[in-house]
Parts: sequence; C-alpha cells; structure tokens
Amino acid sequence: MGQIVIEHLSKLFPGLAGEQIRAVDDLNLTVEAGELVTLVGPSGCGKTTTLRLISGLEEPSSGTVKIAGMLMNGVPAKDRDIAMVYQKPALFPHLTARENIAFGLTLRNCPRAELERRVGEAAEMLELRDCLDRRPSDLSGGQCQRVALGRAMVRRPKVFLFDEPLANLDPQIRIQLRAEIVRLQKRLEATVLYVTHDQAEAMALGNRIAVMNRGTIQQLATRRELHQLPSNLFIARFVNWPPLNFFECTLSLQAEQLKFEETGELNRAEPLKMSCPPEVCLTMKNYVGKKVIVGIRPGDIHYLADSDAKSVEGVIEGNIEMVEPVGEELYLHARRAGGVVILRGPPQLDFKINQAIRARVDMGNALFFAPDTGKAI
Ligand code: ADP
Ligand code: MG
Repeated sequence: MGQIVIEHLSKLFPGLAGEQIRAVDDLNLTVEAGELVTLVGPSGCGKTTTLRLISGLEEPSSGTVKIAGMLMNGVPAKDRDIAMVYQKPALFPHLTARENIAFGLTLRNCPRAELERRVGEAAEMLELRDCLDRRPSDLSGGQCQRVALGRAMVRRPKVFLFDEPLANLDPQIRIQLRAEIVRLQKRLEATVLYVTHDQAEAMALGNRIAVMNRGTIQQLATRRELHQLPSNLFIARFVNWPPLNFFECTLSLQAEQLKFEETGELNRAEPLKMSCPPEVCLTMKNYVGKKVIVGIRPGDIHYLADSDAKSVEGVIEGNIEMVEPVGEELYLHARRAGGVVILRGPPQLDFKINQAIRARVDMGNALFFAPDTGKAI
C-alpha cells in the first residue's frame, strides 16, 4: 500500500474566452499508507481534477505527485497501480458481475485459482455472491456500485481513488455502502483518497478530512479539529450542520471588561451584547475597537421560557420562522432584526410559526474570525 504525497500541484485549463482556469492551485496533500482521507468541497472546486492528476489521466501544469515514494510525473496511468471508482460505475454491459470484477485480473494474466479466490473473497465482503452471474442490466444501482468496488479491490492496487461513488444512490443504500467502504478499507489496510461534495459523508468516512475550495486545500484535519478549530470562515460554514450562527460584532473595553456588541444597520434597535469569555480575553485585547465575527453553534443558544432571566446581556429575541427536527433534536429558526438565528429547542415543547421567543447566547464555545480575511482568531 502506498503513501500519496502531493506537493505544489497546479492544473490550468484554457477557458473559452482565452482566460486560464486554475482548476487546482498550489495544492499540498499527504495521505499516509493505509489511511482513508476524504476530500470534500463544493462542486467545481477541483476535486475530480486532483484525482485525475494523481491517477495520470491529466498531467500537472506544475508540482509533483508521489506514490509509495516514487515520482509519478510522466508515468502513464496504466503503470501507476491505482484503482479508481467513479460516480457512475463503468461496467461492461455484456459481462457478468463475476467477469466485471475479475476484469483487471484477467488482463494481467492472474492464475485461475488466485483469480477465483480473490473474486470469491470480494463477492463475500460485498454481499454479491447471489448475483455474480447476472449482467449489470439485471443489478440495482447499489449492486452495480458494489461490483465496481469489487473490481477495484481484487486488483490490490497501491492506492484507491474514489470520485463520489455513492452520489447517485438512494440515501439508505448510500449509508449502508459507506459503512462497507470503511470496513473494506480497514480490512485491506488500503490507502484511499475519497472525494465527495457531501460534508456529512466526508465526516463519517475520513480518518482525516481535507476541505477544498477554489483549487486548494483549506484545512486537513480530523473531524473533531474541524469542528473545534476551523481555520477560517469557509471551513466553519462548510463543516457544521445545522449551520453555525455568525454575528458581526465590535469589541470594546467597558469598565475593564471586554464586550462584544453586534454591529450593522439592522441591529441598531436591539443589538446583541455579550461578555468576552475569560479564556480568550488575552487574545481579544488586540481587537478592541475592531470588528470580529463571532460564531455560535445552535446548541449554544438556549431557549428561555417566559419567566427566565430578565438580563439583556446575551439575550436575543425573535419570531419562529421554521421548526426543523434533526434526529432527536429540534432546531428553531428564529427571525430577528439582524437575520435568522438557529437554536436548539427543547424537543418536548410545541412551537408555532411566528411565535415570539427569547434565547440566551452562551459564549463558552464561541469561535472568532477576522471579517477582512475570514481567518480564525
Ligand atoms: P469538482 O470535481 O470539484 O466539481 P472539477 O475538478 O471537475 O471540480 O473542475 C474544477 C474546475 O476546472 C471547474 O471550473 C471546471 O469547469 C474546470 N475544468 C475541469 N476540467 C476541465 C477541462 N478539461 N477543461 C477546462 N476546464 C476544466
Ligand atoms: Mg467532480
């Protein structure tokens, strides 16, 4: 199994109007041998191009790709020992599932007994035993994708590249196959770079998650790090669901205390005011008189029953616009002068549209960003 090391990789395509499209822009990424890294980002950010550069289907404009320590620039795709699985399983329609799975081995003149052993093992792991003699037209979408996985797996390549392999499947099958991919990867100790635009899938699958935007990796980290220490606003917006709330505030020193006060035209009447949590006061001192974006999770905005807390600090008021159950939790979208705030509500209560509510913002887990650069403070 091979480590993948990508350094300063760029790919420029000529655009229609003579301009240059930077599909991949100075990208650096290491996937350790035996690791599953997910590469996630919005459509068009350069994920597929990155995989094509690794697999040799495209040559880079600049930068290097190494697999298992060997420089791959200039090496033809067929000699890179990589298996790719695509969104649409590219199966041969006239071959059975068994023949499709065995295809790469047949090409490489694998001995009969070894071929049968590997195909049998793949069929077992992918629960395909009962449909090995069917052709793709007689298989479901999920089964076709399993056949494509099997075909990649039996080759025992140095590296697996997946390009949104589950994107076309029904949600239930998607979740089932996700778990199977994790199991397969562990069992084969495979090196996998898995591309998806779905942040939930990226978080569920990856040992580490590389978040990509505009041709480059914004952050490569574990799911916990991405949640707790997002490096910038893009990451904080992209990885959190339900989404974080962002308040643009000005920081001031009032009677020796650092206070955040929400800015903006809309909030003149009832700006949110909050005290700076003690742990971050030292850092925040440098921002007195400046604007800071404060990010608060819906779970850190606490619904207040009528009689609760009269204090105005950290309290917001709004009218319910939408009630959204997510699993066992209930999320309330409340409209206020400054926009919509999402908070976690008590699931045992009934909430009505347009109902006025009050809630208290807990700054304990707040995230802070510089408005000009978007970088985390
Ligand atoms: P993703 O897979 O993240 O959706 P892609 O890697 O497919 O993104 O594309 C990244 C950018 O490069 C897009 O703007 C796309 O239009 C452009 N692009 C990709 N392939 C080509 C090509 N062969 N010629 C010109 N532009 C391309
Ligand atoms: Mg793509």
